[in-house]
Amino acid sequence: MLDFKDTRTAFSIKSDRDIRRAFFMYKMISYPWLVKIANPMIRFASAIRFPINWIVKPTVYAQFCGGETIEECAPVIDKLKEGDVYSILDYSVEGSEEEKVIEQALEETLRVIDYAAGNDHIPFTVFKPTAFAKSKALEVLSTSETPDEESLREGDKFRERVNRLCERAHGYGIPIMIDAEDSWYQEIIDTVVMEMMALYNKEKPIVFNTYQMYRHDRLERLKKDHATAKKNHFFMGAKFVRGAYMEKERERAEEMGYEDPIQPDKAATDRDYDLALKYTLENIGDFAVFNGTHNEESSRYMAELMDELKIARDDNRCWFSQLYGMSDHISFNLAKAGFNVAKYVPYGPVKFVLPYLMRRAEENTSVKGQTSRELMLLKKERNRRRN
Ligand SMILES: Cc1cc2nc3c(=O)[nH]c(=O)nc-3n(C[C@H](O)[C@H](O)[C@H](O)COP(=O)(O)OP(=O)(O)OC[C@H]3O[C@@H](n4cnc5c(N)ncnc54)[C@H](O)[C@@H]3O)c2cc1C
Repeated sequence: MLDFKDTRTAFSIKSDRDIRRAFFMYKMISYPWLVKIANPMIRFASAIRFPINWIVKPTVYAQFCGGETIEECAPVIDKLKEGDVYSILDYSVEGSEEEKVIEQALEETLRVIDYAAGNDHIPFTVFKPTAFAKSKALEVLSTSETPDEESLREGDKFRERVNRLCERAHGYGIPIMIDAEDSWYQEIIDTVVMEMMALYNKEKPIVFNTYQMYRHDRLERLKKDHATAKKNHFFMGAKFVRGAYMEKERERAEEMGYEDPIQPDKAATDRDYDLALKYTLENIGDFAVFNGTHNEESSRYMAELMDELKIARDDNRCWFSQLYGMSDHISFNLAKAGFNVAKYVPYGPVKFVLPYLMRRAEENTSVKGQTSRELMLLKKERNRRRN
């Protein structure tokens, strides 16, 4: 029986000092007004090149990031392994419109793939597709029936870059996941990722697409993609998340007068999330499943379904994942029960990772109950250690 309240397991790799720091960080994040004023202040300080590393790095950065470089993440990877939790290095630098920056991101992601291939504590690689193309072109290619020449050229470059990454990962036999972002970029990304699956998933699932189940059309899309994969004899890699950009999606749809792509309510998102997990696990012969969530119920649901369907807990096609610094009670308790668990470990230079950190702080403030849950668990563990 899974016990997510077992804080001894949840924080087994954390020292008393780590617990104190995590408690302090979550306490800070629990004040929405503080997050609200900290955001523009940090952005401003960064813009005028006021040194902020000394305050950010030992605090919020240390809580949510692995290090500034791949090599700096090594101790974090080793530490997570002590609790049987694997790592996925996530180069968390935001996308750019500059060709030079795009090429740099590509080289860095290739380096991560090489590094992962040589480290058996890193079972996956990942990238954000918007890092590899100009956003306008992705939008045009996703939303227009008659894209202009320049967008088509950009689309070809995007496809080439994604192909380089998938080809490299395939060469090592290491799975590669493509994150999902704003819906107005997603159609071209889905198209290219399906092409990559057709190329590289012939023997086993190597390329994974991401399905954001807060979109009301994703369950149908998943089934359609599955039918395509079956017809063309390749495996599907499916990563599931609820989706991180709900407010932005709704605002844009309202502003531009198109149908809101988001589910009508949270219950509908939760329902489709479970249905997607069920569908893929029932068809596990065709799939590899990656459950990216901080929701205890979704994690428990998949674990129970696996047991029910007699899928071995350590079956290499089934993975659970949480972000580094968050929901350790889910990660470490699942791992202790014998399931495959990997943490997304974001890394990159402090000033480039700031937008990621801001999002984490905002998400923890806005996702109902998340911060209070972390604080309650940390407090429980602190008391347990004192007695
Ligand atoms: C390993 C990992 C990888 C991730 N990769 C991606 C990625 O590639 N792309 C991406 O977008 N996000 C990604 N995320 C973020 C993920 O989408 C967020 O964690 C998620 O938004 C929080 O949902 P939850 O499943 O943890 O749990 P919960 O806290 O149960 O769900 C909160 C989520 O439910 C949805 N929701 C809330 N209210 C409503 C409502 N009124 N109507 C409809 N839906 C609602 C929203 O998606 C909201 O974020 C990733 C997360 C993890 C852990």
